[in-house]
Amino acid sequence: MTLNITCIPGDGIGPEIVAQAKKVLDKVCEKNGHTIKYTDVLMGGASIDKYCVPLTDETIETAKAADAVLMGSIGGNTSTSPWYKLPPEKRPEAGLLKIRKALGLFANLRPAYLYEELADACPLKKEISAAGFDMLIMRELTGGLYFGERKTVEENGELKAIDTLTYSESEIRRIAIKGFDIARKRRKKVTSVDKANVLDSSRLWRKVVNEVAADYPDVEVEHMLVDNCAMQLVKDPAQFDVILTENMFGDILSDEASMVTGSIGMLSSASLNDTKFGLYEPSHGSAPDIAGQDIANPIATILSAAMMLRYTFDLDKEADEIEAAVKQVLKDGYRTGDIYSEGTTKVGCTKMGDLICERI
Ligand code: NAD
Repeated sequence: MTLNITCIPGDGIGPEIVAQAKKVLDKVCEKNGHTIKYTDVLMGGASIDKYCVPLTDETIETAKAADAVLMGSIGGNTSTSPWYKLPPEKRPEAGLLKIRKALGLFANLRPAYLYEELADACPLKKEISAAGFDMLIMRELTGGLYFGERKTVEENGELKAIDTLTYSESEIRRIAIKGFDIARKRRKKVTSVDKANVLDSSRLWRKVVNEVAADYPDVEVEHMLVDNCAMQLVKDPAQFDVILTENMFGDILSDEASMVTGSIGMLSSASLNDTKFGLYEPSHGSAPDIAGQDIANPIATILSAAMMLRYTFDLDKEADEIEAAVKQVLKDGYRTGDIYSEGTTKVGCTKMGDLICERI
């Protein structure tokens, strides 16, 4: 297979971590007889420096022409970087919102997995973390409260703010289908999270999810209220496989799920549209405080590349090989600074990439 990938190394540690992910992709593709064609483009601060805008139309076209986009991270130090003296629509993060919109990315996936070797970083009680967890939060990204009409008016001498939460059947159906398709690649369980005891939008969400579930008799479906889900994530995270939810609930729950893993440098993510196309990037930012020192943890980006193989290219075996190599490196005691603990061996970003390649 030929994989046509647009790379956006970005700013800060972005170029360092993307270089490691490419190295790992090259290794696994060489082993399995695939060819990769990379096209590197600029976005964020790097694009501002060269083109005076955070995202050019050419970059969007290059991304659209690819099968998938692999991104590092964008942005700089928000207090000291000159990029943040620009008007908001010209700052690095504006590029991020624009590219998500241009590519129609409506489904955000964030896995939360507890590595046995990093269990000490998990803030949960030992008896809970001992069971481990391996879940995927699937968040609707382009609808709901964040995109509804909003206004602030004055009424009876006081200010009143109004935000509207809308979802259409088609918006819910397309993400539900993604959620069930992805559950089929995992442990075949979907927990749909809503607030159907109060909200109309949640009652519609639940109705459409049930309709979609009828086409997936092999996938177990359950419904959970969002307040209960927030509690269950810290009480019994092992029960979850795919958590499917709307925009705002997903925003909050995905951060909570990330937090219980305890290690930001390990968290991958994907944003998908209704084709096989996806944008894959670590959940963390550009870490300008450690940029250029070869000490960043490249694993979140490497795991994002594994997600790309699994969800865009259906290369599940190759994705498994990368994930197994990451587990083996941790088992062998190697750690970057952010996940280092006494008795383990501290390595830099490039070395971590090399060690993972050696295990593929
Ligand atoms: P950050 O995630 O970049 O860093 C937070 C802390 O975690 C820092 O101490 C950093 O050194 C550490 N860290 C992050 N990733 C790491 C890694 N891979 N290995 C080791 N340590 C790591 O968050 P921030 O400091 O709030 O933001 C910095 C910049 O990143 C800002 O400009 C912000 O807007 C941007 N940002 C971009 C994205 C994105 O590109 N999608 C996401 C979040 C933040």
